[in-house]
Amino acid sequence: KTAEIGLIGLGTMGGNLALNIAENGFRIAVWNRTVEKTETFHAKAGDLAANLVPTKTLEEFVQAIAKPRAIILMVPAGEAVDAQIEALKPLLDADDLIIDAGNANYHETNRRDAAVTADSPRFMGIGVSGGEEGARFGPSIMAGGPKSAWEQVGHILEAISAKHEGTPCAAHLGEAGAGHLVKTVHNGIEYADMQMIAEVYGVMRDGLGLDASEISKVFGAWNEGILQSYLIEISHKVAGTADPDTGKPMLDIILDTAGQKGTGRWTAIEALMLGTPASAIEAAVAARNMSARLGERKAGQAAFGAAPGKVLGDAVSAKDLEAALVAGKIICYAQGFGLILEAARQYGWSMPLPEIARIWRQGCIIRSAMLNDMSEALGEDPERNLMLAPFFAEKLKETHGALRKVVALGALNGLAVPALSAALSYFDIMRTERSTANMLQGQRDFFGAHGFERTDKDGKGYHGPWAMNTV
Ligand code: NDP
Repeated sequence: KTAEIGLIGLGTMGGNLALNIAENGFRIAVWNRTVEKTETFHAKAGDLAANLVPTKTLEEFVQAIAKPRAIILMVPAGEAVDAQIEALKPLLDADDLIIDAGNANYHETNRRDAAVTADSPRFMGIGVSGGEEGARFGPSIMAGGPKSAWEQVGHILEAISAKHEGTPCAAHLGEAGAGHLVKTVHNGIEYADMQMIAEVYGVMRDGLGLDASEISKVFGAWNEGILQSYLIEISHKVAGTADPDTGKPMLDIILDTAGQKGTGRWTAIEALMLGTPASAIEAAVAARNMSARLGERKAGQAAFGAAPGKVLGDAVSAKDLEAALVAGKIICYAQGFGLILEAARQYGWSMPLPEIARIWRQGCIIRSAMLNDMSEALGEDPERNLMLAPFFAEKLKETHGALRKVVALGALNGLAVPALSAALSYFDIMRTERSTANMLQGQRDFFGAHGFERTDKDGKGYHGPWAMNTV
């Protein structure tokens, strides 16, 4: 019996995804560069082995799949994907489908999509979120590519995806790189969400003098309310866990230099390229970069001194911090969805925003209760800035004062809250009709004769009388 689908790359993600597909009743052919891994994988698959077709060569692999074939690549993003596509091409028919499920940069997916010709296999890029566990038991799947590709494999992707209230967290979001772009923005939002949680943790630790177990309790309580989310839940658990060797809180022994694989950075780059504000995400990426410079930070502390501990007394409460986080979160998602909207406009992709919020509801790292309200708000009007949706506008009216207080007291006391600060600045700019860019336009016209528009007359290309009136 032939397989309904194939998968290449039995690493952490690929192996788990293959088991998930097999468990959902689809027969799947698998191939891995290192053949022993395929054998071990098959031997350990238990009952699911019945739905697996292990293969030793690419030729054997391709022949094991029913036509038109669908082949998932789960290999490291970049050259490995191109190499694998090239190796497959001579073995495939034009109506076969190659699906890159790794964390590709969406520009690469656009390039690979554009390289599809009449006699080459079709191509699809899907973002798969939720890490190892998601891959095994139900990820959120963000698909981009031709509609015909989704029609071919959509039912399999829906079957293996996470479910929210019975509905699959998998969707076709647009052509070419649309799925990978959405996955990238997901990861950028993840960076900002994590960073803002780390910042309020810092205020509790250094500003309020709370210990890890007290902080854990605060996160635990927040997880019962509006902030209910996977990231708050794991922060509660991380803060509440002790090191088995020393008995000390894990948080107190983990070195404070954060790693990154680049997708948060891509979001920041993309925001700059598309000309759309994602300042909270950019701040989160910069914060990770600063965290890596431990030596410089040590030297900085020796030169300037650190903020003294327990500086805030009772000036800030856990309630203030919760509200600040709510405001920061709304703003960071407004920026993330704004970025997706801009990409949709520039590339002509459909990008159904309410659907995107919905498929993030389960199976991915940023899953949270608030995404339900976001999906609803984006459904009312996907073009509107999320912070102007009545539900979120109301929430922001209630919470931006707390955000301001946390940012201001942080600044006065030397506690860095970069993502929250960026979120607050965005909020203040985006609620100010008369900004300060008139000065920028004056400067630009002065030195470069760039021209400006006037508040009192129609038309463009006005110039100032600078040469005559210099003071
Ligand atoms: P692993 O390192 O665990 O596995 C990589 C797999 O790719 C292995 O099977 C390896 O084969 C194969 N491989 C590596 N290089 C090549 C090559 N040049 N040609 C053919 N096969 C190759 O990676 P992950 O499973 O963690 O990641 C796979 C993709 O999924 C990446 O794009 C990653 O960014 C993405 N991703 C990862 C997540 C995670 O939480 N880990 C979450 C979401 C996406 P061999 O056994 O021979 O080395």
